[in-house]
Amino acid sequence: MSAVATFLEAISGLDVETQPQKVRRRSRDFYWYSPVLKRELDHCQADAVVSASDEAEVVRVLREAFRHDVPVTVRGAGTGNYGQAMPLKGGIVLDLSRLNQVIGIEQGSARVQAGARMMDIDLAAHPSGQELRFHPSTHRTATIGGYVAGGSSGIGSITHGLLRDRGNIIAARIVTMEAEPRILTLHGDDIQKVNHAYGTNAVITELTVPLAPAYPWVELVAEFDDFMPAVRFADAFSGEPGILKKLVTPIAAPVPAQYLFRDQVGPDKSVMLLMVAPFAMDATRDMLAEHGGRIVKQQAYALDERSVPLFEYSWNHTTLHALKYQRDITYLQVLFPPPNHVALVEQMCARYGDEVPMHLEFVRFGNQIACFGLPLVRFTTEERLNEIIADYNASGCPIFNPHAYTLEEGGMKRVDPVQLAFKRETDPKGLLNPGKMIGWDNPAYDESVNDRALYER
Ligand code: FAD
Repeated sequence: MSAVATFLEAISGLDVETQPQKVRRRSRDFYWYSPVLKRELDHCQADAVVSASDEAEVVRVLREAFRHDVPVTVRGAGTGNYGQAMPLKGGIVLDLSRLNQVIGIEQGSARVQAGARMMDIDLAAHPSGQELRFHPSTHRTATIGGYVAGGSSGIGSITHGLLRDRGNIIAARIVTMEAEPRILTLHGDDIQKVNHAYGTNAVITELTVPLAPAYPWVELVAEFDDFMPAVRFADAFSGEPGILKKLVTPIAAPVPAQYLFRDQVGPDKSVMLLMVAPFAMDATRDMLAEHGGRIVKQQAYALDERSVPLFEYSWNHTTLHALKYQRDITYLQVLFPPPNHVALVEQMCARYGDEVPMHLEFVRFGNQIACFGLPLVRFTTEERLNEIIADYNASGCPIFNPHAYTLEEGGMKRVDPVQLAFKRETDPKGLLNPGKMIGWDNPAYDESVNDRALYER
């Protein structure tokens, strides 16, 4: 009998799916945004999916997986973009979407199970006048555990920064992959051991996250005749301390008319997506007028299942809309570092024009304002894509490569010694999401050749 079959016998009574088509569907994420990952990962599939409903079941699964040497890849909602939740080496997918309770809402914080959808956390927090400080544009689908293990920032990051910033995660309760799995609660800087680790060194079962005051946010689309005035507006607006805002998203023509707001903006217009507090509307209108922006759409944000929020046109959703119309589109993820971010954006826009149409997300970056770029790429060949990536990197605009599936090549840009050391303690057999941490598989890995390693693959 195979190791997986023996393992499945040992966990009998738990919810197990082995029907190949269903297992295949739940072995996927949004890796197909990247033509490179589509080619590299399309074949990846677990042998079975196990759904856990409580922490005791997670412990049981990890104990038996350790005993039978079965790889375990954790899954929240499977909205990750880099094959993060895809089992490279078979074994099981451990689905945590049923571990979805909001355990408690306090003044300033929420204690939740890892599989809770972020929208459900906000629905539970709203009666107390609170909401998550920030969330991804997949608010209606993604889990908080998947966000912490695989995401970075999102709607609200213009005020509150990134997940990795101190104070943005209060506590993480985890289960280790050992002969006798341990349950640990991490606080303070220790949280970085599992934050954005793709579930390679622990399974997160519970999180305590900070909340902010909730407002009846106003969603705005403003049109600009050119992109750079929109970027300069975004930068100035982001830096205005008195204007409470949640989203500052400039998108260059022709993307808005081509893929986002087809009948609402002209083909040569760039747009600015904004979410602002209602009492900031006068200041916002004045500032837009000063920079040549015109409001073409205004609506109230509605926290319910049926309404499509404006933020579902921002962050990684922008690319998703483009992909609905054109399959040969892909994207990049880039940091335009402060304080020269606006000049760098102008330089890269001038260099690549409509081959790499620009989309920016302004964020609070440490104690400065900066912008992430999620530009679309009109894809031709992998060679050309890699040329563009190399040029961005060489021009001082680091690419967090969404065409690579390892932690080191994607979000981290380096081996994280803390996460690697923690993995030695918590996953000594290397069974958690194997293949995603190069530092584990290849201790001689030289991160200075990070990008070259990618090109040579
Ligand atoms: P999954 O995709 O299921 O998992 C993500 C990673 O975390 C995987 O490596 C998985 O193994 C691991 N994992 C999941 N749960 C756990 C757990 N409990 N313990 C340990 N490891 C775990 N990201 C952003 O940061 N900001 C955005 O604005 C944003 N917008 C997006 C828009 C779209 C349309 C798409 C497709 C993606 C977007 N993303 C964004 C990426 C992704 O949605 C987020 O990272 C999301 O929060 C992932 O949650 P999930 O539940 O789907 O996680």
